[in-house]
Amino acid sequence: MSSVPDDLIQPFLIEASGLRGRLVRMGPTLREVIAKHNLSPAVKGLMAEFVILATTLSAALKFDGVFSLQAKGNGPVSLMATDVTSDGGIRAYANVPKNVSPSFVVDGSPVPRLLGAGYLAFTVDQGKHTELYQGIVDLQGATLIDCIHHYFQQSDQLSAAITLAAGSEESEGWRGGAVMIQRLPEDELSVRKEEMDEAWRRSTILMGNCEKKELTSAKLSPHELLFRLFHEDGVRVFKTNPLHFSCRCSRERARQIISMLSKEEIEEYKIDGRISITCEFCNSEEWFGDAEIAAARAT
Ligand SMILES: [Zn+2]
Repeated sequence: MSSVPDDLIQPFLIEASGLRGRLVRMGPTLREVIAKHNLSPAVKGLMAEFVILATTLSAALKFDGVFSLQAKGNGPVSLMATDVTSDGGIRAYANVPKNVSPSFVVDGSPVPRLLGAGYLAFTVDQGKHTELYQGIVDLQGATLIDCIHHYFQQSDQLSAAITLAAGSEESEGWRGGAVMIQRLPEDELSVRKEEMDEAWRRSTILMGNCEKKELTSAKLSPHELLFRLFHEDGVRVFKTNPLHFSCRCSRERARQIISMLSKEEIEEYKIDGRISITCEFCNSEEWFGDAEIAAARAT
């Protein structure tokens, strides 16, 4: 049995038009990101799509650091966040103040049903002394894809079209995938605008033919899927970028949180004389005893 490449970003180029794109495929990595959290199925479904969207958007930008996507709303899920590092490390988090019932159904409208009214924002953090790239859009539409297309329509910094799917099957667990094509300013230089408009329209229609199970399949290779979609116009593929679960938390970061707590807070949070700091992305716990708490607060 030949194994199909998984957990990757596959960059590609449509030869007839020169338009560039990215395919995202995620299996074991998506499972691991989601398995860190105890969430009801509807929220897991939203998180799966959120992680795929964040990874796809991160692939549209050139950066060296951390890409973060966040959604804040007044619905049952008050915050959802995903980080994607430039070396393909992914983690996610959802704040669900009131439990969402396991039988809760999103009826094809996860954004209004789970996030409610609010906004979707992304940032690129490249560390000190570099510019922060930011985008923000209201949560408008039934799905995350509706929201991000709304952003693309009003943005002059990022022009793209995305099709995305995620789902869970008993045999394979969570899987997801996306295809994105991008319209870059440099593409417009050598071609007449009408020609590029036509190529764009054609490519988005071809991309729209993609079925959910083709995007998420563990059996259909990324090359095969791209060939199916764009073979009439020719498609060239480039080196893939691997994806994996990774959390950036550490005992040192937990110690920094302790150092910022007041004396009253320390006493309030103590359990049997110790304090535990839990990472909200990976749920790992760091425990600190009195001596270490005192040392952290003295620095
Ligand atoms: Zn962590």
